Amino acid sequence: MVASEPDLLPYSEFFTEEHHAIREAIRDFATREIAPKAHAVDQEARFPIETFKELGKLGYLGLPIGAEYGGAGADYRSYVIAVEEIGRACGSTGLSYAAHVSLGSNPIYLFGNEEQKKKYLPKLTSGEHIGCWALTEPGTGSDASSQKTTARREGDHYVLNGTKQFITNATDADTAIIMAMTDKSKGSKGISCFVVEKDTPGFYVSKVEKKLGMRGSPTASLTFEDCKVPVENMLGAEGEGYKQALMTLGGGRLSIGALALGIAQACVDASITYAKQREAFGQPIGKFQMIQSFLADMVTEVAAARLMLYHAAYLKDHHKSVILEGSQAKLYASEVASRVANLCVQIHGGYGYIVDFPAERFLRDAKLCEIGEGTSEIQRLVIARQLGL
Ligand SMILES: Cc1cc2nc3c(=O)[nH]c(=O)nc-3n(C[C@H](O)[C@H](O)[C@H](O)COP(=O)(O)OP(=O)(O)OC[C@H]3O[C@@H](n4cnc5c(N)ncnc54)[C@H](O)[C@@H]3O)c2cc1C
Repeated sequence: MVASEPDLLPYSEFFTEEHHAIREAIRDFATREIAPKAHAVDQEARFPIETFKELGKLGYLGLPIGAEYGGAGADYRSYVIAVEEIGRACGSTGLSYAAHVSLGSNPIYLFGNEEQKKKYLPKLTSGEHIGCWALTEPGTGSDASSQKTTARREGDHYVLNGTKQFITNATDADTAIIMAMTDKSKGSKGISCFVVEKDTPGFYVSKVEKKLGMRGSPTASLTFEDCKVPVENMLGAEGEGYKQALMTLGGGRLSIGALALGIAQACVDASITYAKQREAFGQPIGKFQMIQSFLADMVTEVAAARLMLYHAAYLKDHHKSVILEGSQAKLYASEVASRVANLCVQIHGGYGYIVDFPAERFLRDAKLCEIGEGTSEIQRLVIARQLGL
């Protein structure tokens, strides 16, 4: 064990014995089952569905969901630990895991009625179904209130038309949570949220994206052409969709922060190992002070990101607002992940640029964390809004 590993750091205030046990168990699974596949999953751009079936069997897909719906009824810290450890083993699997749990399942748990929870959650928590969540559109990302997808009420159905873009897990999802405009005249208060099942006529997976990183996490567009969704599939009431989306993204920021932290930790792990074994000028490169300086900066920044993230998760579990702390943790952890991944490539020299080593994958994967679920610029806006300027 090296000094950068979480266990040696003073986080005991944030965690109980149960949290430590969850970390140990998920780390063991991630090390055995996820990390060995990370290279192939990336190179083949393959969604590791078999890993999701296993995660379901082990109870990780339903970590924050109540036991009555097949979940583990665990707190948010447990979930953040799981994302961190999975992301440390494989960024793509971590991203798809986070999208399934906090975006594709949790909104049903938080905003759904009893019937909806009973119908959808057991399949999502067991891994029988994969979930996705779709807010972004071709012309609307950061400015998510300008939704163009429409849902028109016709009797006991809503008829959906429009396209959603960059949706994680969309290719494999059995259920999609879709934001759509039910009353344009009300602006963001005219947006509603629907659970749409994949076999619904008029629902298509349209464009599958090729990406810089996170290649094992599928990203695709969803198109709706006169897609009739039963009224009972609306989550909450008409007009509540945007508020629900913002609340979902509030939790999602901790997901992406945890994912970034996991990737950053993987960079530290790989860099220390390499610095010990690679020799130049007759000694391991880790003996050079400039390499030590890189590593010292890396572990310091990762430790700071970790504290911010765990603090935000702790506050969330104690029912405090984490608008500020969640955005700060997401912003800082994702920018740290990119900086640390860049140094990881540098420490690996030429091998850092070659796909046989994981450093270049870490760099490609890390970048997404600065963009997904609110770009760094949007996080800065959210943080600045809390300053009472
Ligand atoms: C791999 C991947 C997976 C994704 N998964 C999902 C998913 O599962 N579900 C989903 O709904 N979406 C998903 N997204 C979409 C993602 O959330 C958006 O790409 C992101 O929010 C940015 O939106 P945009 O791409 O439209 O960029 P834009 O909003 O067009 O932003 C372009 C640039 O302008 C900046 N900018 C925008 N507004 C402001 C402002 N007010 N002030 C300062 N700068 C600003 C941005 O920060 C950015 O630098 C995913 C994206 C990717 C790449």
